[in-house]
Amino acid sequence: MEPIQLPSPVIRTVGLTKRYGALDVLRGVDLEAREGEVISILGASGSGKSTFLRCLNLLEVPSGGTLNVLGEDVGFRMKGAEQQIADARQVNRLRSQIGMVFQNFCLWSHRTVLQNIMEGPVHVQGRNRHEVRAEAEKALERVGLRERADYYPSQLSGGQQQRAAIARAIVMQPQVLLFDEPTSALDPELVGEVLKVMQDLAAEGRTMLIVTHEMTFARDVSSRVVFLEQGTVRVQGAPQDLFRGGIDERFDRFVSHFSRQG
Ligand code: ADP
Ligand code: MG
Repeated sequence: MEPIQLPSPVIRTVGLTKRYGALDVLRGVDLEAREGEVISILGASGSGKSTFLRCLNLLEVPSGGTLNVLGEDVGFRMKGAEQQIADARQVNRLRSQIGMVFQNFCLWSHRTVLQNIMEGPVHVQGRNRHEVRAEAEKALERVGLRERADYYPSQLSGGQQQRAAIARAIVMQPQVLLFDEPTSALDPELVGEVLKVMQDLAAEGRTMLIVTHEMTFARDVSSRVVFLEQGTVRVQGAPQDLFRGGIDERFDRFVSHFSRQG
């Protein structure tokens, strides 16, 4: 018999911790994301979801544990009382392969949609403008914004701005996409158009980690659900198992709370 080949881990954390002063925000997170997995990260406000994503993207330096991104162990060293990432070039190399989409879009307000999307490939990756322009237009097409290329962010709805932010992430051809509550700042009627784009990306087989309170999306689109509580993984599993209920009482209570709201 041939051994079963698992897809390689894109991200792996073992016992990842993060402390701010006396506050233990992450208290040992073990998580592995393999190629093509779509992982929804659920948890109450303050449970450490954003901090965890920011550690994966190397926007935050973990206090302890191990972090492996795209097959590379990220090395740390102490500088005074603070832990630092040892190799700055590794940070740049890895970060350019990790796409991040934030709650508040974070587009440049004084640049058009197209300029926003071309910014990374041209100025960070140092690529040819003409080539990048064609790819940026393709990325805009992908999120249904081809006609809005020359608009400024303030001329767009929140849903359109978030779709532009997704186009900006995918034009970098990242190995993994991280989303931090991408629909939480949107008016309810605009949530669906953003989730639809994310669902399409998931169907392409992209590796995605998504912090969300959209329970229907988590249940129907993700391949795995991870429930964080007070900085650790309380329970994780296939959505069809977890959402059936009866596996973890606190997860069930969390879900019913959000279902009541939604
Ligand atoms: P979530 O995204 O799950 O709501 P966060 O990761 O944003 O949670 O925050 C977890 C906890 O860490 C919160 O108590 C928050 O106040 C605290 N925290 C987050 N960032 C910082 C920071 N830069 N300095 C101090 N405390 C922080
Ligand atoms: Mg958060």
